[in-house]
Amino acid sequence: MTPAQFNTDEERWKAVGENNSSADGAFYYAVITTGIYCQPSCKSKLPNRDNVEYFTTCDAAEAAGYRACKRCRPTATSKVQEIKQKIIHACRIIEESDTTIKLDKLAGQVNLSPYHFHRLFKKIVGVTPKQYAGRHQSRRFQKNLKTSPSVTDAIYSAGYGSSGSAYDKKRDQLAMKPKVYRKGADGVTITYELARCFLGWVIVAATDRGVCAIEFGDNSDTLPKQVQARFPNAQLDKADIGFKTLIKEVVDFIESPEDTFEVPLDIQGTAFQQQVWEVLRQIKPGQTMSYSDVAERMGKPKAVRAVASACASNKLAVVIPCHRVVSKTGKTGGYRWGTERKQKLLESEQDRI
Ligand SMILES: [Zn+2]
Repeated sequence: MTPAQFNTDEERWKAVGENNSSADGAFYYAVITTGIYCQPSCKSKLPNRDNVEYFTTCDAAEAAGYRACKRCRPTATSKVQEIKQKIIHACRIIEESDTTIKLDKLAGQVNLSPYHFHRLFKKIVGVTPKQYAGRHQSRRFQKNLKTSPSVTDAIYSAGYGSSGSAYDKKRDQLAMKPKVYRKGADGVTITYELARCFLGWVIVAATDRGVCAIEFGDNSDTLPKQVQARFPNAQLDKADIGFKTLIKEVVDFIESPEDTFEVPLDIQGTAFQQQVWEVLRQIKPGQTMSYSDVAERMGKPKAVRAVASACASNKLAVVIPCHRVVSKTGKTGGYRWGTERKQKLLESEQDRI
């Protein structure tokens, strides 16, 4: 919360009068005549100002003899906020750590039992602590690849236990072979164009072999940078008029994915990723598969996590329909370009069949 705000009676009374939800958590107001305390956003009838008392915590209000309002449930909200803070804190610990932290140790650092911690983390962040740590390691690893003198150094400085496991992960998570990636697609020319679609901005980028990236974003300025970051040494050029047909084709396909897409693709990925992506391309619009379904289809039922990271490494949104892979429980699951976009895509495909 922001302790600098809502410190004066004046500010607090104003927040109560406006049902200002951004003041929730900063203070609570209690009504002397009813014996009940509320959050500033509570929709209950505005009390007489003379009968109002303020507290900064639920405990303090209760110690003064007030009961929590059943309507705005101040204690429930403060619990939720407290838990969110703990999970955010755990995320920071993971991000800042150079080594893998054991679950029980991490849970201990935020005062939660390992079981609760794991469940809450998954619920709030969307992935398990281990997956979260894996992503951060992998991101660090990619960064290090570009600055470290050798691949082995990169592996160790990213905090992987042994070079063996890092090589496995790296194979699953990097689109290109390490040496090519380290060169950042040096000598490759990539042409791109931007367009609007129902999911926001879309960038279509192509090498002379075919389309190499289709990505979504909220902002047309950042999208070319996003592609450049993937291929840092590639020469990135905005396309001329000839490219308009291609981008139209892509946008049409995003909007009606049941049509066939015959534009050549330059799919950069490991053999394993290519296998995963091949399975994904067989999932028809309106259908979904779970990560374990995909692993099984490939004849590698144990490779569920590797399948998930291959989906996350996809650079060709919609054309390789990684959005049609959902978690086993039927939840939407993660999406590189945002869960909201994934949800929208799945809904629009449902609507069309
Ligand atoms: Zn209330």
